[in-house]
Parts: sequence; structure tokens; C-alpha cells
Amino acid sequence: MESGNGYEEPVDLRALDYVSSYDDHLMCPICRCPFIRPVRLQCDHVFCQKCLNTAMTTGLEVFTCPTCRAPPQDVFQNVPRILTNMCDEIRVRCPFVSEGCQEIVPRGHVQSHVDKYCGYKPIECPSPLCNKKIRRKDLPSDDRCLHELHVCSLCEAEITEQDYDEHVNELCPYLKMTCPDCLATMFRNALKEHIDVCPEAIHPCAASKYGCPVKIKRAALITHEKQCPLLMMSPYFEAQNSRLESLELKISHLQQRNEIFEEGLAKLQSTLMESPQTNNSSSDASDNQQPRDDRFSYQSNANTYLLSLHESLREEVARMSQAITDLDARASMTIMNECLRIKEDMAHTNAAVGSVRMQVQWLMNPRLHHGQRVASVRASGTGSSEQGSSNAVAPSPGLPSSGTVRARRLSDSGREGTKL
Ligand SMILES: [Zn+2]
Ligand SMILES: [Zn+2]
Ligand SMILES: [Zn+2]
Ligand SMILES: [Zn+2]
Ligand SMILES: [Zn+2]
Ligand SMILES: [Zn+2]
Ligand SMILES: [Zn+2]
Repeated sequence: MESGNGYEEPVDLRALDYVSSYDDHLMCPICRCPFIRPVRLQCDHVFCQKCLNTAMTTGLEVFTCPTCRAPPQDVFQNVPRILTNMCDEIRVRCPFVSEGCQEIVPRGHVQSHVDKYCGYKPIECPSPLCNKKIRRKDLPSDDRCLHELHVCSLCEAEITEQDYDEHVNELCPYLKMTCPDCLATMFRNALKEHIDVCPEAIHPCAASKYGCPVKIKRAALITHEKQCPLLMMSPYFEAQNSRLESLELKISHLQQRNEIFEEGLAKLQSTLMESPQTNNSSSDASDNQQPRDDRFSYQSNANTYLLSLHESLREEVARMSQAITDLDARASMTIMNECLRIKEDMAHTNAAVGSVRMQVQWLMNPRLHHGQRVASVRASGTGSSEQGSSNAVAPSPGLPSSGTVRARRLSDSGREGTKL
């Protein structure tokens, strides 16, 4: 069944209906389809050859990798074979599904299916006078044109020869058919409606899903359904069903949680089993002595391990409290020493302050006396000019005396400095 013209159109793989799900990693980032003849860039990103070529030639700026924006680079043809194979194994629908082909094939085989095997592929009518298309499976053995119109004797519609047999035997709406239940004869297009209302048709009771065994003619069924106890109970059954469903859902959730918990418990047990064997050689020996009672020995093992752990922790705590007491005593001793030292310092400082105060007072006193003396001299000077002239000399012997006072004071302060 080769078609007349030798040229076969390639199937557009991007327009196919992909039936099986595929991994996102098999999808070209440009056309969002599984790779078609993939190529690889230096940055290891893969694209369809055609997509990459289009992207390289149409971009206005310098071409960069569409995925990682890497600068211009070489294109490699050697993409891992498994990638191509995985892409070709994705199942697709035959592109002539609209013509009636139900075939689902791996993508790698779709071209050969269309070229050689698909009976629904439209091909040129073999008659040189006709330019219509015909499905390959309808092709007559002689090169007759099947596009001549025939008129249906029943419905008077014009039907092409290729569809005529099917129309007359199955599809013509004026085909006479008989109801299988009441044996009435009617046209094909009326039969569908009739079957839904045929009084002779045998139907099950509406409560059949709840166990009502009644199957009778429609006319009798109406009276039955009025008094069917199961049908009356059906709202209750519905409610119970929904409750059961929600409970089952809950149970499945709980089961999942339970599984998780059990897993965790098993892990805990296994770690507990391992640790005493590695840490405690004596309990290991007892294990060997009682190989039959594994469970008991495991429990006693765990108990001894826990007890020893407890004991060591208790020792640790005792050591810690001892250390804390020591630290406390040492700290209080240090504080006391420090206090004593500070007290001594304070006493020294107090003494120094006292002596300074005394000196200041001593310094203030002569100045006070001097001021009083000057004031009294001024007061007497206003009385007689002679006394004033003698007084003008009088302060001169006072000056050296104040100089000696200053010297003494300086020496005092020096002494205090050494004392401090
Ligand atoms: Zn692509
Ligand atoms: Zn890249
Ligand atoms: Zn097909
Ligand atoms: Zn034709
Ligand atoms: Zn007809
Ligand atoms: Zn009927
Ligand atoms: Zn019933």
C-alpha cells in the first residue's frame, strides 16, 4: 500500500499529541517539546537543532545560551544517545486521529506509521480526473474514483461512494430498526429516544446498588419503586456511604502516620541494640550465653546500658557540684581580699584628704590675716601722710615671709605625695 507519489511529508513532531507523561528534563527550553534532534552547547545545555538555529539567526544581540546566558560558544552534535532514545520512546497519538486513526505509537515510529501503515492518511484520489483525497484504507483495488455521489434511497442525501455502504447499513437516519424490547419498528433516529422510554424495556430498580433484586418492565417498575423499602432507605445509605468514605480516608491517613512512627521506633530500637554491644562488652558476653532468649537479653542489655548511663551521669553531676563549690569559695576569698585592699586604700585617701584640708585652711588663714592687716593699714593711712609713707615700706618685710610660707607648703605637698 505505497502511495502513488514518492514524496512523503515529514510529520511535524512538535504538533503531535504526547500521550505518555515525560520528564521535564527531556523538554527543549525553547519549544517546550521533547527534544527533536538535540544538540549541545559548551555549557552542557541541550536544545533542538532547529530551535537553536532559529534562536542563533534571529536574535538581534550577540547569541547567548537561552538557559544560562553563557557567551557565544561551540555547538556539539554528540548528545548522549540515551537522551534521544528517551525522547523517541515517548508515546504519541497518530497525527490523523481526526480521520479516525486510534493508533498510539512511540514518537520514533510515528513517521514510519504515517508513511507505511496508517490507513487513515488522506492520499490523492487515484483517478486523474479527481483532485480530492481519500483515506488509504478506502483505496479501491482498481483505480476507480470513489468520490462520485450516490443518492441514498431512504433519506435522499447525497453520499460519496466511499461512505455509501456504511451509510446504508448503519448511519442513515431513515433506516428501519426494531426495538429489542417491544419489537416496534421505527426509524433509526427515533430509536434512541424510544429506548429511554420504551414501556416494555426491562430495567433494574433504582435501589439495585443497595441490593434490590427487582428487574421488571418500566411500567411496573414505577409502582415497585413507590414501595421499595430499599429505595426508601437510600438517603440513609447515602449518608452511611459518605461517612464510611470519610472514615476510610481518615484511617488511611492514620495508617500512614502509624507507619512513620513504627519506622522511627524501629530505628530507635536498632540504635539501642547496637550501642550496648559496642559500648558494653560484659553485656555482650551475657548475650552470647543466652542466644535463645534474644528478646529478654536485649531488654536486660538495654536496662544495664541505661543504668550505667544513669550512674555515669550521676558521677558527672557530683563532680560538677564539687567544682562549683570550689569555684564559689575561691571567688569569695578573692572578693574579701579585694575588699580589704580597697578599705586600706580608702583609709589612705581619707588621711590624704584630711591633711589637704588642713593645709588649705592653714593657707587661707595667713591670707585672711594679711587682708585684715592691709585693711587696718589703709584705715590708719588716711589719718596722717607720714604714717602712710612709713606704711608704704611696711609691706616689704611681709613679702619674704609669704615666700617662705609658699616654700613650706610646696615641701609639704611633696611629702604628702610620697605618703600616698
Ligand atoms: Zn526545541
Ligand atoms: Zn547554557
Ligand atoms: Zn495512524
Ligand atoms: Zn476521486
Ligand atoms: Zn440515507
Ligand atoms: Zn420498545
Ligand atoms: Zn426495588
